[in-house]
Amino acid sequence: MTSSTPADEAPICSARGCRAPAVWALRWNNPRLHDADRRKTWLACPDHRESLGDFLGARGFLREVAPLPGSPNLEG
Ligand SMILES: [Zn+2]
Repeated sequence: MTSSTPADEAPICSARGCRAPAVWALRWNNPRLHDADRRKTWLACPDHRESLGDFLGARGFLREVAPLPGSPNLEG
């Protein structure tokens, strides 16, 4: 999980060991660590959107899931 991504590189899934292009942004907040209006972002490929979302959701951290702008893989 790096915090800086070169603008000319496709965003990559945040799941450990995954190098697939990300198509989802999972925005989350840990109330113990972050201000209430702060959002951390994990990126997820289609295969990991559910597992990453479940991980955050089980801890009550998940705030929203949004499609990544400009992704060529999304329908509609
Ligand atoms: Zn992935």
